[in-house]
Amino acid sequence: MSTALVWFRRDFRVADNPALIAALAAHDQVLPVYIHAPDEEAPWQPGAASRWWLHHSLTAHAARLAAIGAPLVIRAGRDSLAELRKLVKETGATAVHWNRLYEPALIARDTRIKQALRDDGLDAESHNSALLVEPWELKTGGGDPYRVFTPFWRNAGARAVREPLAAPKKISAPKKIPAGLGIDQLKLLPTIRWDDGFYADWTPGEAGAWAQTEAFCSDGAAHYKEQRDLPAQASTSRLSPHLHFGEIGPVQLVHHTRRLVGERQVKGLTGNIEHFIRELGWREFSHHLLFHFPTTPDQPLYPKFAAFPWRDAKDYANDLRAWQRGLTGVPIVDAGMRQLWITGWMHNRVRMIVASFLTKNLLIPWQEGARWFWDTLVDASLAQNTLGWQWSAGCGADAAPYFRIFNPVLQSGKVDGEGVYLRHWVPEISKLPDASLHAPWEAKPAIWLAAKFSPGQDYPKPIVSLSESRERALAAYARIKGPDTSSPLL
Ligand code: FAD
Repeated sequence: MSTALVWFRRDFRVADNPALIAALAAHDQVLPVYIHAPDEEAPWQPGAASRWWLHHSLTAHAARLAAIGAPLVIRAGRDSLAELRKLVKETGATAVHWNRLYEPALIARDTRIKQALRDDGLDAESHNSALLVEPWELKTGGGDPYRVFTPFWRNAGARAVREPLAAPKKISAPKKIPAGLGIDQLKLLPTIRWDDGFYADWTPGEAGAWAQTEAFCSDGAAHYKEQRDLPAQASTSRLSPHLHFGEIGPVQLVHHTRRLVGERQVKGLTGNIEHFIRELGWREFSHHLLFHFPTTPDQPLYPKFAAFPWRDAKDYANDLRAWQRGLTGVPIVDAGMRQLWITGWMHNRVRMIVASFLTKNLLIPWQEGARWFWDTLVDASLAQNTLGWQWSAGCGADAAPYFRIFNPVLQSGKVDGEGVYLRHWVPEISKLPDASLHAPWEAKPAIWLAAKFSPGQDYPKPIVSLSESRERALAAYARIKGPDTSSPLL
């Protein structure tokens, strides 16, 4: 009787799970394990919203595994290798399989663990469950990592995508199951209940991921290209947290969505689905960048940006707090920040607007925004968050040019003309007419009066002048502009 451990980490699904399927194919018995060791992820231990998701994702995964015959044994500690060795001893396992993660601290840990287990005489194998293309598989013609999305995706997107692996019907677990912790003992849920809004929006777990996929395919997918920038529409997939926790994988999504195109003869569906798959390409690109430029979660990709004249922390503390709480007085920014706080998610276009406002209008370092997102997003991903923030600040790969400063009022009018999103998240201004919603401070006093709206009392006046702060940002960026002769950090 041979036994293998399957070490689950952020791959909480049984379908298309290469580590699980490989262990089942080679061994008589398989024991699923999860080891909670957040300190090994320092300084990027999961934030509060991610811990909420993790709790529920683990709960769903344990139930899914139990239904096909195996318990999920949960351990916690500061040393995953020590826990794995204990489990090997307790079960007599001869192999450990897992799926790869790509954050720098975890690559270092996993490399060390693989070597140590092999030195112990075990078969230690890692697999790819999370990406279409591994970051080390792609290079530019010159042999360098890609730093521009279009050529990256021309290469990555043209590759054949392997067939998804079928879910096992049964797992034979060892007769004697080692002791483990209950999920509650990991204390992942908040003690002060700020998470009520999450329950209405999300169903973590493999079944929840597929329900969300079906909802997207039967509705938003058909309008994806045209409506994906409109925050009041449910036209994007909202699959980001499910993808991050590996409850569904990109291989499954590519095959599933392309198959639907064939089945449902809906006009224009092909273009919409291919656009969606291209967005999955940005996820791939972010992992490529993080792998090749591992210092970028804290440092700009281009070193010359390290000299950027950000404001001092003491000077910006109040503005940062207003931004975090959704009280800047700029409705589209506040709407996004409140959506984030209440639901743990924010629409992509609005993420770009709030990030531009923080870095360019408020001149607050992008790292402050990235840290706040890290703690509050249910989809917080080191690779994608880093790319999004460096792109918005203008210092990363394929970044928005420094002189491109979103005007949040114009953006708001463009993406939420009738104010459906604004009225939902900023009810203080909801009685204003559509045309005045995007910049209430510019409306005539007669309009305020008619709407019984008192600027500065019912809702803050903007904490910064959009035109003056734009000029200030342009001057700051001018100090470091010029041809970029610096090479990116390695
Ligand atoms: P869809 O439009 O349905 O796209 C499908 C999937 O493609 C997404 O789930 C996501 O995995 C991927 N994707 C889409 N757009 C992007 C993008 N621009 N970059 C990378 N991947 C993308 N995404 C995260 O998953 N985690 C983060 O921590 C994160 N932080 C961000 C921070 C900033 C400042 C910005 C501007 C963007 C950030 N994004 C992040 C990217 C993007 O906003 C989200 O992936 C997207 O809003 C998720 O919604 P969706 O699943 O409905 O997307």
